[in-house]
Amino acid sequence: MAKHAVLSASSSHRWLKCPPSVELEKGFENKTSIFAEEGTLAHELGELSLRYQLGDITKRSYDSKVKKLITDNELYTNDMPDYVEIYTDTCMEKVAAAKATTPDAIAIVEQKLDFSQWVPDGFGTGDFVIIADGTMEICDLKYGKGVQVSAIDNSQMRLYALGAITEFSFLYDIQNVKMTIIQPRLDSISTDEMTVEDLIKWADEYVKPRAELAIKGEGEFCAGDHCKFCKAKAVCKARAEKNLELAKYEFADPSVLDNSEIADVLARAKEFTSWITDIEDFALQKALSGEEYPGFKVVEGRSNRKWTDEKKVGEILIEQGFLENIIYTKKLTGISNMETAIGKKEVKRLLGDFIEKPPGKPTFAPITDKREPYNPAKADFMG
Ligand code: SF4
Repeated sequence: MAKHAVLSASSSHRWLKCPPSVELEKGFENKTSIFAEEGTLAHELGELSLRYQLGDITKRSYDSKVKKLITDNELYTNDMPDYVEIYTDTCMEKVAAAKATTPDAIAIVEQKLDFSQWVPDGFGTGDFVIIADGTMEICDLKYGKGVQVSAIDNSQMRLYALGAITEFSFLYDIQNVKMTIIQPRLDSISTDEMTVEDLIKWADEYVKPRAELAIKGEGEFCAGDHCKFCKAKAVCKARAEKNLELAKYEFADPSVLDNSEIADVLARAKEFTSWITDIEDFALQKALSGEEYPGFKVVEGRSNRKWTDEKKVGEILIEQGFLENIIYTKKLTGISNMETAIGKKEVKRLLGDFIEKPPGKPTFAPITDKREPYNPAKADFMG
């Protein structure tokens, strides 16, 4: 089983902002999700492909390893190779570009990285590292599609970069680091860049002291976006206090909200509703194992009637003379499911001309959102 660091790079966004969260999380179970396992499979496929393309393994070995990996693996889907290829193509394009200017550029797959100089027991694995002409680039595959992850100001990538600098600075004179996240299922590739000097300064002045606080369970609780992935998020008092504070709103006269008051409520709504949902989920799980919450009980939710034996029902109706097209519905599967079933490339090749992306429904987003403001004229035209 993979060893997990207490102060892992992937959770650094949280413990750097809220160091005592590490101690608070200790009472909660470590759950591994199906998405994490799916990500591991995609990483393994990516690793084999890169090793083959770099000449580390033969075609025969590559084919047999891939076959072994995907046979009977229920998490494998037909679109996985297409997505993994977006990652490996991006890596290999970077290698080609680096070699064009620096013929002795090197590329390393799955490099173990140790950043324990700044973070106690800090280690991780860099998916792909390229070193050429004073610049080192770390590429990271994110297979998930739930949340878009940007490389900009990304502490996980910076910690990996620190590990890579520690590993390679004896051999190479590296002045700059580039950190790239490839998230193929969200069509997202982002890169951040900084000097090694700035990176080390960040590590010495910001990371090291906060990691020391975190490991001792000290420091100030600080609630924010990073609470989303905290195991204590449902019961944490600091988060509750922040949200209840947000809910106390001093409205000015007169008796209706003005636009800036509405904007204020909108800005608080997302975090507030996700906090409530976290508490509901937590309390329901606890209540199911006997915990009691005054004034509440667990009841059965609404449910819909369903056939117990669809085949038998069909037979009875046909026998009674009802037409098939009345009793059965036949519907084409959606585009994402079709890609999963037959592969992204096949969908594009065979069906690309029959895909359109209608304009989405208008929705509120913060002003910092990357999307263009909604244009009703364009939506009318498309519609
Ligand atoms: S929920 Fe938020 S504030 Fe509370 S411990 Fe976790 S990260 Fe810190």
